[in-house]
Formats: sequence, structure tokens, C-alpha cells
Amino acid sequence: MFINLTGLSPYVKQDKEEAFFQKKREQMVRHQIQGRGLKDERLLKALLTVPRHLFVPGQYRREAYEDYPLPIGEGQTISQPYIVALMTEVAEVKPGDKVLEIGTGSGYQAAVLNQLTDQVFSIEIRETLAGRASSVLQSLNYTGVKVRWADGYFGWPEEAPFDAILVTCAANHIPPPLFQQLKEGGRLVIPVGSTVFFQTLTLVRKIGGKPVVKQLLDVRFVPMVGEIEKEKR
Ligand code: SAH
Repeated sequence: MFINLTGLSPYVKQDKEEAFFQKKREQMVRHQIQGRGLKDERLLKALLTVPRHLFVPGQYRREAYEDYPLPIGEGQTISQPYIVALMTEVAEVKPGDKVLEIGTGSGYQAAVLNQLTDQVFSIEIRETLAGRASSVLQSLNYTGVKVRWADGYFGWPEEAPFDAILVTCAANHIPPPLFQQLKEGGRLVIPVGSTVFFQTLTLVRKIGGKPVVKQLLDVRFVPMVGEIEKEKR
């Protein structure tokens, strides 16, 4: 469904566009998120607020709220909205929590996290994506997100420990530095698996210094690259 916006003044056009995307966001939350059983009010509000269409390349803007991942350049993708929501919910992010994300990509997941806490640290290994995401986040005033261009395998030791860590690229094992940088009682959410076809979204809690692992569902993420490719487990 497209609205014909040609011939309208730029201000009217902007208002109409905003209304269009607002409606898309509401439909996304109702059908894809609440419809699949996620209920956390703060999470739903965050998803209703973050302008996902501004995190995807121009040609995909109108598809931004659909029920699938989209290309963001460099062969990478922004995750399907439900997967972003699920990872955020199981990470149990509370106000004031310190959260680390591995795989900034478009910056969308980081923005959703910043709606829930003002301390978000996000690492991206591809320089162009890191640069682009950080300017989008800045332009939208997500001042609680710090983006670093680096290999996320090693985490962010200067800011550790974290209440929650979300890894948004697929890993064949859990990078030990990430588990180390988790607080006692902290949550690590990560797609684990060695195939390119699917991995298992896994929730790891640190209880008494030890990992308590719960497998959630099969997912498909782009692979983690860098150090992890050298480490055989
Ligand atoms: N969370 C993103 C989607 C991420 S796609 C969003 O909301 O848009 C996965 C991202 O992980 C890609 O951008 C990829 O470049 C990045 N990535 C892959 N290996 C990485 C590593 N070792 N460290 C940090 N980022 C990595």
C-alpha cells in the first residue's frame, strides 16, 4: 500500500510519511510481537517508538516493518523485528543496566536497547557499518549508545561487567571474554551453531560464576567473523 505523495508541500509530505510509518509500527507490534506472545510493556513501547525505517537503506524503507530481515549493505542484514524483540525481552534489560551488543549493523537493536536503558555499548567489526550506524544514532539523539569499531569477540573490557550482552551474529562457540564480562546474574543472548543455515538462539545466565544455558529457538544470523574464525572449539 503506497500513498501518492507527489505534488504535496515538503511539510505535509513529511507528516503523511510519519503517519504512514507510525501505522506500520503499530501493525508490526500487534501482529508480529504481541501476536507471538511477547507482553513486556516497556519493550512494546520501545518498538512503537524507534523509527526502524530510518535504519534501513532508502530502497527498503517501505518494507522496514515487514516480518523479515532486510539487507543493510556489506552483505549484512538487520534482523527480523520479532528476533530483535525476543532477544531484548530475554535479556531482561532494566533502567540503568549496562548492556553490550556485538554486531551493531544498522544500529536498530542498539536504539531499541537505548529506549530501555541509558548505557548501551555496541561493537561492529565493519568500519562502514560502524560509521553509518553511529551517525544515524546521533542524528536521532540516541545519546546513550556508544559504538566502537572493533572485533566484538573480545568484548569491551574497559566497560565490563555488563548486566546483559546481546550477540547479533552467529558464533560456533561462546567467546570466553564475553562470558567473563557478564555480571553475576547477567544474561548473554547469542545464536550458537556452526552451520550457515541455522543456529540456536541461546540464553546463558551467570549463576555462581557458572553458565546456566537455555536453548530458545532456531534462528538464522550472518556469521561472526574475525577472531572466532581462528579459534577452534
Ligand atoms: N544488530 C544489527 C544486525 C546485525 S547483523 C541491527 O540491529 O541492525 C550482524 C552484524 O555483526 C554485522 O553488521 C556484522 O558486520 C557484525 N559482525 C560480524 N562479526 C563481528 C565481530 N566479530 N565483532 C563485531 N561485529 C561483528
